[in-house]
Amino acid sequence: MDPILVSVNDRLANVGDTVSLVGHLDLERFELSERSFLLPSGMDYDVVLSNVGEGILATGILRARAIGTCDRCLDEAVLDVAAEVDEYYLFSEPEAGVLEDGEEEGPDYTLVSADSTIDLSGALSTAFVMDIPYVVLCREDCAGLCPVCGENLNKVDCGHAEQIADQAEQQRMESSPFAALRNLKLDE
Ligand SMILES: [Zn+2]
Ligand SMILES: [Zn+2]
Repeated sequence: MDPILVSVNDRLANVGDTVSLVGHLDLERFELSERSFLLPSGMDYDVVLSNVGEGILATGILRARAIGTCDRCLDEAVLDVAAEVDEYYLFSEPEAGVLEDGEEEGPDYTLVSADSTIDLSGALSTAFVMDIPYVVLCREDCAGLCPVCGENLNKVDCGHAEQIADQAEQQRMESSPFAALRNLKLDE
């Protein structure tokens, strides 16, 4: 994502000052490790920047329609993303010792840059990523692909599911501790 630079100017000079930012990003796609999402209408954000003394707090919402691939059936999965934006931009590096006991990593913050700007792109992409489910599905009860013939079971009933269930039942019977006994009796 390209930087979205916002100047921390007079409007945010004093503690308590807030600035509302509403914007649209013409972003066509978003890549997320092995996943790729098309964004037919880009992204829209509605963020409020507040001077909270030590820094600028950016809170708001990011909305996007994201079209990805269903993890089960590989068909299209449409996600309506409504993600919470929450980022803290400190005016200066916090002093050592500010960290609370037991806190291994530093608090979650970014710095206001030397030219008094903040870059919202990181906050927006983090929000987007956090809102994408771990498993992307076209619908909650997606039936997936048939492991035998590869048909999309949401659309076609190839009949293999029953066959597989029968086989599984047979295997269960055979692997049962009583299976050996049963054979023994048959042999006698
Ligand atoms: Zn699916
Ligand atoms: Zn099948």
